[in-house]
Parts: sequence; structure tokens; C-alpha cells
Amino acid sequence: DPAILWFRQDLRLADNPALVAAIAAGPVLPVYILDDDAAGPWAPGGAGRWWLHHSLASLGDALKATGAPLTLLRGRAETLIPALAQSVGATQVHAGRLVEPFARERDHRIAEALGAVGATLTLHTSSLIAEPHRIRSGAGTPFAVYTPFSRAIFALGEPDAPLPAPKRIAGVPPAPDSLTLDALDLLPSRDWADAFPELWTPGEDGAAARIKRFTPKALRSYGDDRNAPGIAGTSGLSPHLHWGEVSPRQVWHAAREAGAEGQDTFLKEILWREFSYHLLWHRPELPETPLRKEFERFPWKRDAKLLRAWQRGQTGYPIVDAGMRQLWTHGWMHNRVRMITASFLIKHLLQPWQDGAAWFWDTLVDADLASNSASWQWVAGSGSDAAPYFRVFNPILQGEKFDGAGAYVRRYVPELAALPDKLIQRPWEAPPELRATVDYPAPIIAHDEGRARALAAFASLKG
Ligand code: FAD
Repeated sequence: DPAILWFRQDLRLADNPALVAAIAAGPVLPVYILDDDAAGPWAPGGAGRWWLHHSLASLGDALKATGAPLTLLRGRAETLIPALAQSVGATQVHAGRLVEPFARERDHRIAEALGAVGATLTLHTSSLIAEPHRIRSGAGTPFAVYTPFSRAIFALGEPDAPLPAPKRIAGVPPAPDSLTLDALDLLPSRDWADAFPELWTPGEDGAAARIKRFTPKALRSYGDDRNAPGIAGTSGLSPHLHWGEVSPRQVWHAAREAGAEGQDTFLKEILWREFSYHLLWHRPELPETPLRKEFERFPWKRDAKLLRAWQRGQTGYPIVDAGMRQLWTHGWMHNRVRMITASFLIKHLLQPWQDGAAWFWDTLVDADLASNSASWQWVAGSGSDAAPYFRVFNPILQGEKFDGAGAYVRRYVPELAALPDKLIQRPWEAPPELRATVDYPAPIIAHDEGRARALAAFASLKG
């Protein structure tokens, strides 16, 4: 019988256990379903959809070359997968396991519906090194703190070697109602994403090229360079990992093979991703509700104007504005600057972290429900292993420490480019005649005032 390979967030041929299992079962029908209904608010945002379009194009080409063309469908997977199984006579459906709460619930229902037509759904470990339901602390409970979690993963030993990509796959013709990629209508209607290709090549080949570029040279300096947004000191693998164009196991082994000094620091970052998924699995409320109950009473001051100034990169703090404009221009933001911009929105502007997370969701090519939600809660102080609330990043000092020469600010806030280095993170201190030549807003709130207000708001939670 033919077997269905249902691609979700594992858009690759190499190291894909679901693909290997489908091949072993019979001729393969690969399918991708755009199921926005099931995802609800967590359907891919604008930048994610841009990525998905190009990644599916790349996957479609690769599959065609192996002999098993990709079927593209749009609608409720809950109905479409059982119907497809029946129409092609498949008794097995294979897929990579997902952690997103809506996807887990959907998979339960699909497994039942398949059972009713004599077929099975098998989920494979595909996008994580350690499945969240398999790993437990010594006390037998899920982990709530990163460091013991990461130690437990390292203690598992090296992950298995990645599986090779099949060259030929016995396929079946695509389903008769298969759509063209354009019919999925994933690309933005305006020119917003035009600069994305300067930075990104979605797809399995693009991911492989990134790994090759990053290791081993960059890995050696990763420990030093990863905090400087002005240089390309990090791997840029996050969107490739999110869409599963490369598996964490492949990344892990590539880092090991590079044999460079930075590898453990780097692998620990890969484990932050794993930890976020662990949290999402065990605390499915993570994307919406603060994990620390007292934060439900946080006195947010929701203000559409402040939120918009932040989104547009018009806060008057150069490092914050550079970050927000990088996000808009290239669909991605450096990790250090994600922390600074998120802290600024939450603490200086007292806007709910959920509003910031929603903007990131729409504009990041690596928007990921686990990592995005866990990181926003971490910055807000409401997460399970969060930064202490009294740590209010000073956007001026952060800018000076991590972008002292202003390379990052000059790139994304070009109106400040002519300022000398010592003024680049504090343009309001420029002498009036110089200030007058620069069209850039004054700080939306003074740092000291913002900090005092944030501390007062957090103190009110204790009462
Ligand atoms: P590298 O430094 O090269 O790290 C390698 C990989 O490790 C990354 O690709 C990523 O998969 C993982 N990783 C690194 N840092 C983290 C982290 N703190 N948490 C989880 N995984 C990590 N990451 C996302 O993938 N999607 C998101 O939606 C997302 N939202 C974020 C929101 C906020 C407010 C913050 C502070 C961080 C967020 N991150 C998110 C984490 C991190 O910023 C990005 O993973 C990282 O910047 C990606 O760049 P890179 O691939 O060059 O990272």
C-alpha cells in the first residue's frame, strides 16, 4: 500500500525519520497541508508565510527529482488526511512530532479518524534532540529551569548520527486536487519582503550552505562575537531550524565535526530551543498566559501609539530602533537586540508582552511558538526560568557595550550615520547645531523615568 508522508515543520529530505519510515512502508505520497484553521492565531505570520512559500518550492523540486512529487493542499488536515488515505488506499501516515498545543490536539483527532478507516498515524522524533515527554528531572517531574535541563541533555550522550537523504523514492502520482504553490497565496501582496533574499535562502540547500559558512571559522569566535549585532557572529540557522530544513541533530554533529572551541557555547544555544519546546509541551498555556500567576495582575498601560512607535523603530533609542528596523527589513533580529527591544517594550513602555510577541510572530522568518513565547515570558519576568524583574536593560549602555562603534545602528538607522561614535547611542546629547541636521525623534521616555515606573509596577505585584 502507498504510505503518506505528511510534511509539517520538517521540510527536508535528509535526516528525516518519517520519510525513512514511509519509504519502508511502500510507495510514498508526500503531502503538505496549509491548515490555518487548526492553527488559529498561530497560523504562520507574514514573514513565516514568505519563508514557507520558498521552502515548499525547494522541497517540491527536491521531491520531484527523487520521483515522489509533492501534493499541496489547503484546508483542515483533520478532514483532508483521512480522506487522502482512503482515496489512495494508504494504511500508514508518517509525520514528525509537533509540540504546538493545537497541533497535538489535532494529531489526536486525526489518529482517531484514521483508525476508523483502518489506517495509522505514526509520529517520529524529527525536530528535537530530546522529546519533551521523554525527558524528566531526577525527581521525575518536567524541568522548569534551563541549566539542569541542559545538563540532562548533555548526559544523554551524543545524538545518533543523522540519516542520509534518499536519492530515489518510489512515489505515487500527486493527488488530483493538489494545488499549485501560488494557489496557497503565501507571498505578501506588497513589497515588504523584497530585502529578505539579501539575507536568506529558504530550503534545505540554503540551510546546508549556512552550516557550511558558519562552521568552523565562525564557531571559533562564536563565544566572543555572538553578542555583537554589528557583525554576523551567529549562525543564522533559526528559520532553517524552525521550518525543519535542517534537524538539530544535523546541526549538533556539524558543530562537533568543526571541532572548534566555540562548540559547547553554541550547543547550549541549541538547547535553549529544546528547553523552550520542553516548556511548551508541559505548559501549553505558555504563548498566552504568564507562567507566574502574580503576573496576571501586572498593571500594563496598553497604548496603541507607544506600540506603533516601537514597531516602526521610532522610540528615539538607536539600538532599539535599529533592532525593530532590522526586523522589518530582513525578517530577523539579532538575539541581543531581541532582548533589548523586548525589555524596552515591556519595562519602559509598560506594554503587554503578548503584544510584542504578536508583532514578532508576524514579522520574524523564524517565528516559533515555543522559542518566541518562552523568550518573551523570560524577558517579562513571568517565565519559569525568567530574568529577575528588577533587571531593566538600559538601552543606552546596552548599545554602547554591544554596538560601541555603532556599526549596527548606522546600518539600520542611517539618519544617525554621521554622528561620532560617542554620540551614536545618545543622539540627544549632540550639540544643537549637529542635532538640528539629524531627523530622528527624541527619546519617547527618559530612561530613568521608564526604569522607575517599571520597578514600581513590578513592586505592586508583591502586595
Ligand atoms: P545562534 O546564536 O546561531 O544559535 C543557534 C540556534 O540556537 C538558533 O538558530 C536557535 O534555534 C537556537 N537559539 C539560540 N538562542 C536561543 C534562545 N534564546 N531561545 C531559543 N532558541 C535559541 N528564536 C526563534 O527561533 N524563534 C523565535 O520566534 C524567537 N523569538 C525570540 C523572542 C525574544 C524576545 C527573544 C529574546 C529571543 C527569541 N528567539 C527566538 C531566540 C533567539 O533570539 C534566536 O533563536 C536567535 O537570535 C537566532 O539567531 P541564530 O540562528 O543566528 O542564533
